[in-house]
Amino acid sequence: MNEHIIAVIKQNTPQAQIDPLPNTLIIGARSPETAVVVSDYPYGRRLRCVMRYWLETKKSHGTRLVSQTNNPKRPGLVWNKPHAGTYTQGAVVLHTDQNAHVKERAFTDFNLSTSTVERANHSFQQVENFERENAPAFTETDHEFIRRTKNIITTCMTRLQTPHQKTELNTTCPVCKNYYTTCTGTEEPPPDTPTQWQTQLAKSNALLF
Ligand SMILES: [Zn+2]
Repeated sequence: MNEHIIAVIKQNTPQAQIDPLPNTLIIGARSPETAVVVSDYPYGRRLRCVMRYWLETKKSHGTRLVSQTNNPKRPGLVWNKPHAGTYTQGAVVLHTDQNAHVKERAFTDFNLSTSTVERANHSFQQVENFERENAPAFTETDHEFIRRTKNIITTCMTRLQTPHQKTELNTTCPVCKNYYTTCTGTEEPPPDTPTQWQTQLAKSNALLF
C-alpha cells in the first residue's frame, strides 16, 4: 500500500524498525530515526498512512510515547506534527500485542504494594518478572528505576520483619510504618531486645551495690 513511502523511510532512516511481528519486545526505538514503523495505518475515514512510534525520556519527568503519521494527501513523504503522550515515571518499554499493535508497557510505583510481607514479596516478584521480560529494551534510566524499586521493597521487607510490639490503637507504627490494624508487630513485646536489655541493666545495677 505505502511501498514507495516505506522505500523512502528505509533510505532516509535505515535504523527504522518496520512492521514488527506480533508479541514482540521493541528494542531501541528512541528517536524518529530508530522508530518502529507501521506501514499501513488508517488516516481519517478512508485514507491509509504510515505511523511511527518511539519513546522519549526526560529527566525528572519520565518516559513518554511519541507517535507520528505521514500526510498521505501530500506527494512524497511528508511527516505530520508528532503527537506526544503523557510522561510515565518508571520503567517503560514498547512492544507489539497479538494484533501487532504498538503498545507501551510500564512498571511504576503504582504497581507496588508493601504493607504486608506477602504483598512486598509479590511486588518483588513482579519487578523481577518485568525486568526479566523487558530488560533488553531498558535504558539506563529504566535499570536505575528497577534497582531503586528493589531497594525500596527490600527496606520495607526488613521493616515489616523487625520484631516489635503491635502499635497502639489509632496510631501509625514507627517500626513497620503500618496503621495499627495492619501493624506486623506482636501483642507481646518481642522476646529478645527489651528483656535482654533489662537483664543487663539489672546486672550492672547489681554491681553498683
Ligand atoms: Zn508495626
